[in-house]
Amino acid sequence: MPEKIRVRFAPSPTGPLHLGGVRTALFNYLFARQHGGSFILRIEDTDRQRLVGGAEQYILDSLSWCGITFDEDIHKGGLYAPYRQSDRLSVYKTYIGRLIDRGHAYYAFDSPAELDEMRRRAQEVGSGQFQYSYQSRPHLKNSLSLSPKEVTERLKNQDPFVIRIRIPEDEVVIFKDIIRGEVKVHTSTLDDKVLFKSDGFPTYHLANVVDDYLMKITHVIRGEEWLPSAPMHLLLYRFFGWEENMPQFAHLPLILKPDGNGKLSKRDGDRLGFPVFPLAYTDPVSNEIFHGYREDGYLPEAFINMLALLGWNPGTEKELFSMPELINTFSLEKVGKHGSKFDPEKAKWFNHQYLSQKPLVELLILTKNLLKEHSVSSPDDYILKVLSLTRDRAILVGDLWKNSWFFFQAPQTYDELSVTKIWQPPTSAIVRDFAKEVSSFVEFTEKQLHEAATVFTRCREIKMGMLMTPLRLLMVGSNQGPGIMDIIEILGKSEFLSRIESGLNKLD
Ligand code: GLU
Repeated sequence: MPEKIRVRFAPSPTGPLHLGGVRTALFNYLFARQHGGSFILRIEDTDRQRLVGGAEQYILDSLSWCGITFDEDIHKGGLYAPYRQSDRLSVYKTYIGRLIDRGHAYYAFDSPAELDEMRRRAQEVGSGQFQYSYQSRPHLKNSLSLSPKEVTERLKNQDPFVIRIRIPEDEVVIFKDIIRGEVKVHTSTLDDKVLFKSDGFPTYHLANVVDDYLMKITHVIRGEEWLPSAPMHLLLYRFFGWEENMPQFAHLPLILKPDGNGKLSKRDGDRLGFPVFPLAYTDPVSNEIFHGYREDGYLPEAFINMLALLGWNPGTEKELFSMPELINTFSLEKVGKHGSKFDPEKAKWFNHQYLSQKPLVELLILTKNLLKEHSVSSPDDYILKVLSLTRDRAILVGDLWKNSWFFFQAPQTYDELSVTKIWQPPTSAIVRDFAKEVSSFVEFTEKQLHEAATVFTRCREIKMGMLMTPLRLLMVGSNQGPGIMDIIEILGKSEFLSRIESGLNKLD
């Protein structure tokens, strides 16, 4: 029987989750659900200096808004709990000990200042970047270069140290990435990365590999920025003797800036006027505020659909995919190698599609929330009528109010430019006479109103616009909105007459 698929999303709570991170979580989620596997959320918080208060909660809230759910996580627990790395320190201590015992890792006592000095010198002599490696380690202060006595002494004295991986000198590491095919790296290009820091915490590399192994992860699906670390991770699997249980790797392509010039960064959003974060975020230190898709009026289903197609190509013309459809159709084999340009207009297009297809009752809930925000209330059947007329124009959720507020409130002001343009001496009389004529109508439908307007303007030998445009101004306050007779039908006779009355009082 094939082993059960187990994948994980392993964010570091060092800030808000960028949309690229959400896409990584989404692809893992789709893969797990499609294969009836398990999806694990692991919080990788071992870089204590970069921790940001509130980031963990932000990550949880974002994923929950997107409808991405986990089978095992920090709250639910699971067979391999705990799922927060800072709660697993004793585990990493055990495993780093094993690597030292087997000679695959070593103590390094060089101070940060000494290492800075090495970097500076390397630059000065133009020998490229300084690397802690098989070449430099004999000249540095570590348990491979110092005498065993001195090492014991230093450890006894509790001299600060880090533990580094001992990268072999001359080997080729080869592995097959599901997306990129064969990846080949010579170990001489790798450096002896720190696995365990002087603060008693493991680095990402050690904790990540140990946990993937212990949590029985079968596939590591993560961003391309981790590809350079993968060969070292492979070596760790080998050093631990876990090669048999090594997960398969899939490194997802980057999400690029709209112009294709480099990776989409958190600053691009505000620079170019679109959100890069799922939820709005206030930086706790700088108090800087970043836009979020939720607050900007995107539906989670539209956001997810848009993200799924960033890098994944279903191979057909179909663009609209519900979550269940994504689960059915998604495949890692159809994820491209090359970065995909982020297109903010496409994000809007998706949202518009979802807003125009959503069942009216669901839009009703969204609209009622908007009305509440504007301290307005209205019966459900009235809101539904408004929605059936205006929903098609909505791109963002907020448009459900922006495009239809005048159905719920009479305009208090009138667009000056329109007034100057259309308000002529006979305008008031035209409007007043028309209102008088239709005030006796029993039925007040768009059709009847339209017929009445046609007859009315024909008798007076005036253009339709001489009646319709002022009517619109009085009902809406500007020259915007759907068909004016549709608007008047929904407003109803008494509201229509009252708006004429107060409008004429103000404009005459
Ligand atoms: N903690 C890493 C991150 O923040 C996880 C990378 C991985 O999935 O291996 O992206």
